[in-house]
Amino acid sequence: MTSADVRATPSASSRAPRLVMKFGGTSVGDLERIEQAARKVAQEVERGYQVAVIVSAMAGETNRLVGYVRDVNRLYDAREYDTVVAAGEQVTSGLMALTLQKLGVPARSWQGWQIPLRTSAAHGAARIEDIDTAALDQKFDEGLHAVIAGFQGIGPDNRIATLGRGGSDTSAVAIAAALKAERCDIYTDVDGVYTTDPRLVSEARKIHQIAFEEMLELASLGAKVLQTRSVELAMRYQVPLQVLSTFGEAVGSDMAGTLVCDESELTEDKVEGKAVSGVAFSRNEAKITLLEVADVPGVAARVFGPLAEQNINVDMIVQNISESGHTDMTFTVSTDDYERALSIIEAAKETIQFQSLRSDSDVAKLSIVGIGMRSHAGTAQKMFQVLANEGINIEVISTSEIKISVLVKRKYMELGVQALHKAFDLDAASA
Ligand code: ASP
Ligand code: MG
Repeated sequence: MTSADVRATPSASSRAPRLVMKFGGTSVGDLERIEQAARKVAQEVERGYQVAVIVSAMAGETNRLVGYVRDVNRLYDAREYDTVVAAGEQVTSGLMALTLQKLGVPARSWQGWQIPLRTSAAHGAARIEDIDTAALDQKFDEGLHAVIAGFQGIGPDNRIATLGRGGSDTSAVAIAAALKAERCDIYTDVDGVYTTDPRLVSEARKIHQIAFEEMLELASLGAKVLQTRSVELAMRYQVPLQVLSTFGEAVGSDMAGTLVCDESELTEDKVEGKAVSGVAFSRNEAKITLLEVADVPGVAARVFGPLAEQNINVDMIVQNISESGHTDMTFTVSTDDYERALSIIEAAKETIQFQSLRSDSDVAKLSIVGIGMRSHAGTAQKMFQVLANEGINIEVISTSEIKISVLVKRKYMELGVQALHKAFDLDAASA
């Protein structure tokens, strides 16, 4: 397509379809990779799309920049952290625009503030609040494709704000929603979402289609392929997402990676009626037990209130049956919050009133996820039996409509994942 063709479609109704193509760090890891990615963009442009390319920093670059900040001051000012770490994406956006121009694709780079993509005030972990597409729309109508620095926006203080690690997925989905793109393709170093991590289970299979809700559970339960918030946004704005490989010449319009879409749009017959679509796991868990807590109204609030105030997310919770007016209460937090959670609870000992505290970070969480669970009775029972057969003790359980999670000793994680993957017919041979 030439820019003249694009100029010939001025009104919104006759506008060319739009596509968001997001390239992660490996996909823009060096100039050769950037050129390979740019050729994919050129192919989609050729098909008639107005393309918004969202780029991450070159692989390893954000870690390097974060390292500089920490080396200067471990208790750094979050605004200056953002100034430094957002720079990685600025570099790749310019390099990508230059490479596209070299290939004959008219393109211009955009930083978050230029769009503007407005965020909350939380530097280092800002949320996207508003994307004004007027300037982008105008440039698209002039025939210019957009290369947008992911991971960054502009905060209410008029300063650069970043969206948290992995945030360029979220940038891509939010921009796809704002631009009403037909699809958001996420190019990465794996060729899709798998039934579990193939490094743990060699029989893991690529999932061709998965519902937003399932992907959201998998992402938040430990699957690392997409940032959880990006899936949340895709679900809220109904943006079809495709995860696909950056290697080779194929592009998203031709190849099937994993399509994440609304349940009603799943075309695969929700596979032979399987209950479970995937098995997720996480080592990033720690367990805290309060022994002999008074079993009176308000105790849970006294335990979890101070944690919430310090932004510590509590995940699984169990409370034993009370005997003689006392109970034991167990909950889990992420290992990142573990030390802080312990000291907060210790500090609140007087108000909470418990006898003693036990804690253990040598644990892992195993989860099975699937919308098929809604129509399959006995899924939980089957999971517990499979683990029992392997001699794996379950320490804590939590469930939702489409997932069951259990906490086990860390040393049983691999065994548990493999056994569940097989028992729920996810192994490649049984597909
Ligand atoms: N470059 C940022 C990071 O490494 C954002 C991203 O790539 O998603 O976290
Ligand atoms: Mg990423």
